[in-house]
Amino acid sequence: MLIEIKNIYKIYNEGKESEVRALDGVTLSIDRGEFVAIIGASGSGKSTLLRCVNLLETPTSGEITFHGENILTRKGGAAAYRTKVGMVFQSFNLFNNMSVLDNCTVGQIKVLKKSAAEAKELAMKYLTKVGMAPYINARPRQLSGGQKQRVAIARALATKPAILLADEPTGNLDSKTSQDVLSLMKVTGQKFAQTMVMITHNEEIAQMADRIVRIEDGRIVTR
Ligand code: ADP
Ligand code: MG
Repeated sequence: MLIEIKNIYKIYNEGKESEVRALDGVTLSIDRGEFVAIIGASGSGKSTLLRCVNLLETPTSGEITFHGENILTRKGGAAAYRTKVGMVFQSFNLFNNMSVLDNCTVGQIKVLKKSAAEAKELAMKYLTKVGMAPYINARPRQLSGGQKQRVAIARALATKPAILLADEPTGNLDSKTSQDVLSLMKVTGQKFAQTMVMITHNEEIAQMADRIVRIEDGRIVTR
């Protein structure tokens, strides 16, 4: 098992009048190479769950293990783990003042300490895979939404993440473009046995995954 999320609770503003129980005992295991979709209505806790898995948020209680090690308690474990998590966002989050290529190398160089040559090689490999190699000198503003998301996917894959987390990756795209981007994620994911967890509120988008997990009011439901 790659990641095991065990009985995670996340309570915002605990003890205050504004208290929100965003995650209410979530348990979920993710295998290497799996493509899991987490589907649920707005406010059901999807982003909170993803933010707990990438450690942007600390669960109120519960355990998350990565290769059997508790990433919440292991000393120095969080920093090492973070470098193994790739993210794709609804809003793309590309650097607008950088070329497509630089967007895909900067994290590798600054965070993963790769050489410029190695970073470029990996960036080109994945940009080619997503069909964006002809655009390496373009700036994000010159690209369509679908193209920007392809670049964001290539950027994430180029860091060779142990797990790729995508929060509503097609939320800003029209339905045809969403299907294209999703197929691309799926095919590329399969090719590289990339473990992926995708959040969506869209039933059709969720169907692309190997497994669908439903979340309602902070709990996983079966139906
Ligand atoms: P989803 O991604 O499924 O729309 P979220 O995880 O963003 O859901 O939110 C789950 C619940 O937690 C919602 O009620 C939301 O208002 C609340 N929430 C999310 N983030 C915060 C925060 N930083 N502080 C307080 N409440 C939050
Ligand atoms: Mg969300």
